[in-house]
Amino acid sequence: MGTLTIECLRCGDVRQVDAPAGENVDAGECDRCEYVGWASVGDLSEKLRRLLRDRPPERRRLYAA
Ligand SMILES: [Zn+2]
Repeated sequence: MGTLTIECLRCGDVRQVDAPAGENVDAGECDRCEYVGWASVGDLSEKLRRLLRDRPPERRRLYAA
């Protein structure tokens, strides 16, 4: 058992969850934006990263409040 660093696919918030080897992690809702889509930071594809980067900074700041 280790910890996995995951990143919210909507607002980019990062958290750590317990991660049993070989099992899917149910991270629940994001505390910040209530989105339920997460990706392991290590598994984020370059495509996803580009999507997050393309987001206007003003919009990200809304969720960060
Ligand atoms: Zn979020």
